[in-house]
Parts: sequence; C-alpha cells; structure tokens
Amino acid sequence: MRNRVGSIPRYLTGRALAEAAFVCLAYLVLGLASYRLTYAPELNLAGSWLPSGLSLAVLVSRKRERWPLLLLAVFVADALLLGSRGVDPAIVVGWSVADVVEPLVGATLIRRAMPTRGLPLLRAREVYLLGLYGTLAGPMAGTALALVTTLLAGEPPASILSFSLAWWGSAALGTASLAALLLAARPRILRAPPSRLAEAILLGSSLVVLTAQGFMLADVVARFVALGLAAFPVLAWAAIRFGPSGAAWGAAAISLLAVILTARGYGPFAELYTVQEYVRVVLVQALFALATITALLLAAMTAERRRAESLQRMLVDAGTILASISPLQDRVERALRRSVHTLGPTAIFWRSERPFVPEAFAQREGMAPPTGLRLAELAGAGPPEGLEQRCEGASCWLRLPVGTSSFNPAGVLAVEATTARRYFDPSETQAVEALGSRLALECERDRLLGESERLYRDAQEAVRVRDEFLSVASHELKTPLTPLATRLQMLQRRVRAGLPVDEAAIERAQASLGRLAWLINDLLDVTRIQAGTMEMQQRPISLTRIAENAVAATAPRDSGRIRFEAAGEVLVQGDPNRLEQVVSNLVDNALKYSSGEVVVAIRNEGTQAHLTVSDHGIGIPAEQLEQLFERFFRARNASSASYGGLGLGLYIVRDIVERHGGRIWAESAEGRGATFHVSLPVLHAAAFQTEKEARGARQLH
Ligand code: ADP
Repeated sequence: MRNRVGSIPRYLTGRALAEAAFVCLAYLVLGLASYRLTYAPELNLAGSWLPSGLSLAVLVSRKRERWPLLLLAVFVADALLLGSRGVDPAIVVGWSVADVVEPLVGATLIRRAMPTRGLPLLRAREVYLLGLYGTLAGPMAGTALALVTTLLAGEPPASILSFSLAWWGSAALGTASLAALLLAARPRILRAPPSRLAEAILLGSSLVVLTAQGFMLADVVARFVALGLAAFPVLAWAAIRFGPSGAAWGAAAISLLAVILTARGYGPFAELYTVQEYVRVVLVQALFALATITALLLAAMTAERRRAESLQRMLVDAGTILASISPLQDRVERALRRSVHTLGPTAIFWRSERPFVPEAFAQREGMAPPTGLRLAELAGAGPPEGLEQRCEGASCWLRLPVGTSSFNPAGVLAVEATTARRYFDPSETQAVEALGSRLALECERDRLLGESERLYRDAQEAVRVRDEFLSVASHELKTPLTPLATRLQMLQRRVRAGLPVDEAAIERAQASLGRLAWLINDLLDVTRIQAGTMEMQQRPISLTRIAENAVAATAPRDSGRIRFEAAGEVLVQGDPNRLEQVVSNLVDNALKYSSGEVVVAIRNEGTQAHLTVSDHGIGIPAEQLEQLFERFFRARNASSASYGGLGLGLYIVRDIVERHGGRIWAESAEGRGATFHVSLPVLHAAAFQTEKEARGARQLH
C-alpha cells in the first residue's frame, strides 16, 4: 500500500515516536512536580495537575493521526506516576484512562470549533473555547470517569463531592495555566528592544514578589493589599501590554506560586481554618483559574481591539492610496502592499488582466514565501462566487471576487496565511471584503475614465469628420453646378442670338444634372439608412439583367472599357432599382479609380449568386480595407483633388446588399487594382416561375 510501509502505519515515524517519548517524559516530570509542590494529603491528589495542561496543548496543536500515539504516551506516564505511588492497580488503569479521556474530549471539541489546528488565544472566542472545553468539559469527563473507577474499585472517597471538586479543580487549573502558556506563549520578547525587555522583567518580578507577599506577609490587610490591589492589577498590565503571551506567563507564575504556598500552609487560603484542607486548595485553584482566564480574555480583547483599529487604518490608507493619481496597477500594488503589513503574516495575490506576481512580491517584502503557494490553483480556478475561506490542516487562505455589476469580475483577491495556524476572523474577512470593494470601485472608476476619454476622442473625431464632410460635400455639389450654370448661360445667349442650339452642350448639362441628382440621392439614402426608413420592394429578378442595365446606364461613353461576363440568367429575390444602384456604384467606382478595362462578372455558385467588379486601378491600401464600407470613408490614395466623391456610395451599397441577405467584400492592394465581391442568395427557377404566375394572376383580377 502507498501509505504504509509493510504493516506499519505511515504516522509511526521515528519523529512521531520521539515526540511521544518526549511527551511521556515531560508528563512524568510535570506530574512529579505537581505532586511535590501541590500535594493535598487528605485527598491523595495534587492540588494543581499540570500534566492536564500539557496533554491538552499537545493534542490541540498536533495532527489527529498523531493523537493515538500521544494519548498512549499520556496513559503510560500517568500509569507510571500512579503506580509509583502505590495506588491499587485497578484504580491506576481507571485514573489513567480518565487522564486520557480528559484532553481527548477537550481537544476534540476545540478542534471542531476552530478553522485551523492550534489555539493561539489571540481572540476572545479562543479563550472562551479554552475555558469551556479545556477547563470545564474535558476535566468534567475525566472527573466522572475517575469517580466511577474509584467507586467500582471499592475504595469510595471520604466525600464524593470533595473528590470530584478536587479532581476537576486540579485539572482545570493545570489546563488554564500550563495549556494557556504552551498555546499562547511566544518567545518574541527575547528579540524585543531593551526597554520592552526591561518592562517585562520588572513586570515579572513585581508579580512574583507581590504574590509571595500576598501569601507570606504577617499582616492580613497588608497581604490583601499586596495580592488583591497590586498583584492582580499587575496581571492586567501584563495582559494589556504583552498580549496573550504576557497574560499566559503572568497567570501561570502567580497561579503556581499561589497553589504551592497554599499547599505549604501559607497565605489567606491556608488560614481558612473553618474549612478542610482540600477545600482550601480547591478554592485557591478556582480563584487562580478564574484570574488566568480573565487575564487571557483581557489580553485577547485588547489585541482584538487593536487589530480592529489597525484594520480601520489599513482601509483608510489603502483608500487614500487607491484614490491617488498614478496608473491603476501601481496604485493597486501599493494599496495591497500596505494591507499585507496589517493582515500579516500573509501574502496577497491580485489576479487581474496583469497579474500581481506574488512570489516576487513576497521576496521583495522580505516575507517567508507563502506556505502552499496555491497560485496555480488560484489562477486556474474561476473566480469564487463570494468570499471563501479555506483551511487545510494548519494553513488558511481567503479568496474574493472583485467586481461590480457592470464589470464582473475585475479580478480575484486572495490572501494566504504565510505562517501555520493563522486564520482569518470575521473582522479580518470584513476588512478584506471592504478592500475588495475599494478595488472594484477603483477598477470601475478607471474603466469609466478610460471610457469617457474614448468617448471624448470619438466625439472629437466625429466633429472632425463632419467638418471635413461639409467642406467635401459643398465642393462636390459645386463641381457639377458651375459648368451647368456656364452651359445654361451659353445656351441662353445662343437662343437669344437665334443661333442653333448645340445638342452636345445639352447632353453635358444633363450629365452635370445627373451627377447632382446622384449626389443628392446618396445624401438622402444615408439619411434614410440612419433613420431606418429605406424601403425595399423585393421580387424575383434576374441579376444578370439588372447588371446589364446598370452597366448600360452608368457608362454610355465608357462602354468600350467594360467587359461583361455572365453565363446565363442568375435569379435572385430583390429590389431591382436598389440592386441596379449597387452595380452602378461599383462600376462607377471602378471606372473612376482606374483607367483600363473593368470586368463585371456574374456566376451562379449553387446557393449564392456571385457578382464581381474588377479593375486595375489605384487600389486600396491594405490597412484601410477594413474601413472601406464605413460612412464618409475615403482611402488616403483617393485625394479629393484628383477624385471627387463623398465616401457614401459603398456605405449605401453595403446596406442594400445586407438587406438582401447578402454579403459584400473587397480584395485589393494599393496600386494593384480592386475586386469587389457581392454574394446574394440564389432564387431557384421553380420559385421564380411560381412567383411570376402569381403576379400574372393578380394582374388578371
Ligand atoms: P466615393 O464617392 O469617395 O467614391 P465610395 O463609398 O464609393 O465613395 O468609396 C469609398 C472609397 O473607397 C473611395 O473614396 C476610394 O478611396 C475607395 N474605392 C472605392 N472603389 C474603389 C476602386 N474601385 N478602386 C480604388 N479605390 C476605391
């Protein structure tokens, strides 16, 4: 099997065995110390059972697959400790099982409530979990088991209540002080600046001295002042200034000292002569367990408050950076870099069109590279539906789609914990969401700015085109008007002088008029196209005929330049006048932009009628072919000085062809002539015939 070596499970590694052996040894040492320092002879129990804290802390922070081995180590150490004290073997087994069940229950409940492994006690909720499951539920389960075993073994304790209270109290105090210390303590203080180190030393020694005074001073009032009015406030000082770690150290120190001194007969609890010794020990346990949890809670709440403030500052700063003036990508990177310092230890990934490279970022920031570097997963997976937090084992990451309704998604924001046991609580996820919204707004603002700039440029271009068109149009309209006016004057002079009228002059005047009518029609057509009022009266017609008519009408004088190629009739459904306009336009252009032969060809290609008009003239620059059919377009090689025109013909032609369900395109290169292709759906002869008959019948009626 892949996961097993022979029959040995994969988690039975040398490391795991060494870890279990270490836990067994530490458990023995702590057990012996607990007996030695806090033994309550009346109950044959230790007043504070520190091993409980060890076993809970170890289980909470280790992988579940290690648990069996660790619990075995706890069982062995516990049995050895009890055995060495000459306890009845049946009770040894029962109590050892109780000491195994206790952390098992506590750790299972805590693990279920936490997104990652471990319990760093950085949040009030985590302290509640330790209090509820670690010091209440777990020890209660252990107490019940221990009591049942004792009763079954036939050695009932003097008082069931006192036995239960003492067992539970000792486990609870051991857990509250030692588990809190093991889970929350961080050796960071050793790297702190000298002033902070000095403060820590002053604080620690004050705590120890004041607690000792609170137990050992002769005067009752002085003891109260030392303990109640000085030692506890100093514990609060530790919690506020040094966070959960400081609270854990401080609470552990004063609890242990208090229990030791009480067990040795010192202090206010030892002097409660009215109650039995075990009650004194239980009372001191309860008081200091409460003090520990209170200090931890104070520390966690202060830390949470500070974090909330720094998250607020982070959002304000990120907002200011995002609103500054620089390219968007630059602003986003700076805002994220600012955020990562507050959210840290984390790495932020920003995936957009230009992804934000996380490895380089992590290195540049001197951060440890993100644990799993799930960049591939992040980049590969589509944007999440909403904010998602995923934790696997000891690491966590957040993913958030960033977008707005009209711009969704602009990117994906991901925050990955770069250290183990770091997860994101609601205040942080809310801050990440707020950051995401700011980013989305910024992306949207950037896009809108770009859009409005583009619109402004387009508007300017439109104004330029309009002005140019007006000057070209007036020039174009004037061109046929001037000779027309001259010819009419000349004709008038001849008529007045009684001279014969020159027919050629009339023809030329008519040509000028035709040109004017053509231009005006083009302008009218464009208006109709724009307004959507261009009408078509389609019926079955022969495209071949239409083309012949168009050629004849367009080029009476240039007919020698045109070669017409058609293999029989090609039928289409269309408006004859409009289709004639299409052919006329293409032929007219071919004649205008070339000086040689123009070929007009019509072919039937199955379902399509294919008309081509080719010339060998000036051609169209390749890069301008795309704009050819746009309104007012004139190629750069067709200067208005050499070639008149408004740039409207092809625009109208395309509209007509497309309304017939056809397609138009051109093949050309500058100086190499041009070929315009029009393809229209063919109408089959049968359909043509039926249509003709129907029309005949209509006329008869
Ligand atoms: P115009 O009145 O300017 O000819 P068109 O819409 O008919 O307007 O044509 C648009 C532009 O396309 C022309 O200005 C010219 O640059 C180019 N063009 C059209 N047909 C040809 C052709 N056969 N050869 C070269 N250029 C052509």
